[in-house]
Amino acid sequence: MLRLAIQKSGRLSEDSLNLIRECGISFLSASYKLKTEATNFPLEILYLRDDDIPGYVQDGVADLGIVGQNVLVEAGFPALEVEGLGFSKCRLSLAVPRAASYDSVQDLQGVNIATSYPQILGAYLTERGVKANLHTISGSVEIAPSIGLAEAICDIVSSGSTLLGNGLREVETVFRSEAVLIANQNLSAEKKELLEQLQFRMQAVRRARR
Ligand code: ATP
Ligand code: ZN
Repeated sequence: MLRLAIQKSGRLSEDSLNLIRECGISFLSASYKLKTEATNFPLEILYLRDDDIPGYVQDGVADLGIVGQNVLVEAGFPALEVEGLGFSKCRLSLAVPRAASYDSVQDLQGVNIATSYPQILGAYLTERGVKANLHTISGSVEIAPSIGLAEAICDIVSSGSTLLGNGLREVETVFRSEAVLIANQNLSAEKKELLEQLQFRMQAVRRARR
């Protein structure tokens, strides 16, 4: 039996559940439940916070997971990725107050930047020779400049309206993300076989959607 971890409730949840259902896998889901078993495929679904999914799959508590690449790479386990799933597309961007002058990433030298993605942002800045002070906060990153916590932010953007609403403008794309299927790297032969069957179905679903 394969154990697949998906986000319990959030932006990935509905599309993750829809994908599994469109693969022809039936299960009863109840929002208060922590796990559920499929009735017509050897699959158990675990409902978790997205941030916990990469670690659980790395440790083998779950065999598979569906998570944003942003969370996967930030957690430090990019090698777990099996394939992109084409939904929950978003980008991690740097933004500064609308009125601030900004020409290039070099302008961030020595600047305070608030983010929930210190690993991805740190690597991006280091590659470009920029030393900034990263302040890691877990939510409401976009209000940091207005409360004086930082002069710039790096956060997830999909449409940009949240940035505009907070008087910020997007100046650099740091990372592009979508939901990905991830797998533990030491699956048994039987589980690998089931994973292949599942991937085959997922690819068929995606082809049919196009
Ligand atoms: P959890 O309670 O599970 O920790 P969360 O609040 O961290 O949830 P969500 O906001 O539900 O996470 O986002 C989950 C993922 O959806 C993000 O990591 C990202 O990959 C993707 N995503 C797509 N569009 C957006 C968006 N506009 N804002 C935030 N995340 C988005
Ligand atoms: Zn989260």
